[in-house]
Amino acid sequence: MRVLVVEDEVELAKQVGRALEEAGYTVDISHDGEDGEFLGSTEPYDAVVLDLGLPKVDGLTVLDRWRKEGHSMPVLILTARESWSEKVSGFDKGADDYVTKPFNMEELLARLRALIRRSAGRATSIMDCGPVQLDTRSGKVSLDGMPVTLTANELKVLSYLMHHLDRVVSRTELTEHIYDQDFDRDSNTIEVFIGRLRKKLGPDVIQTHRGRGYSLSSPRDIV
Ligand code: CA
Repeated sequence: MRVLVVEDEVELAKQVGRALEEAGYTVDISHDGEDGEFLGSTEPYDAVVLDLGLPKVDGLTVLDRWRKEGHSMPVLILTARESWSEKVSGFDKGADDYVTKPFNMEELLARLRALIRRSAGRATSIMDCGPVQLDTRSGKVSLDGMPVTLTANELKVLSYLMHHLDRVVSRTELTEHIYDQDFDRDSNTIEVFIGRLRKKLGPDVIQTHRGRGYSLSSPRDIV
């Protein structure tokens, strides 16, 4: 899952970025509204953390432009104070949730997890696919109830497929959602991660669709 953080306070942006990375997200950071708007409309993010008071273009305008262009990724806004009018305008412009500064990092992470989960149509933080279970809070994976150890990138691939169950996801799409903008992307590495996931989770959990990509499918025998 890849998250964009648009926040002009450099130290705060760094802290949020670090917390998100530790939680297993891929993170891009932008320090002004112009750059943030550009990234949000050209890169495929799974969620955005958007400050409202930003240089060049303010956060509400950025959000408004994204929504008018049809970008529907979940957006969590950061408001500087308990200002109800800012929150109302934020929701009216298409924000999905907000936190008020100063905020608790755990709360920000919990809200973001919930947003990403809901946009994937999942109601709970534990996701199942047959014998595989992913706890999105802890990032822990189990197979038939037994813990499985995954590397950060393997977890990112599995998590993305879990959030898009029963849909074929191309290698390019996976690449775009697990690497940040500065990474020298090579979609061949995806194949390597899929191979390792199959070794750890069993050969049938991830399906290959020739020339199209991969999918995780909910088991057909359980109706
Ligand atoms: Ca600000």
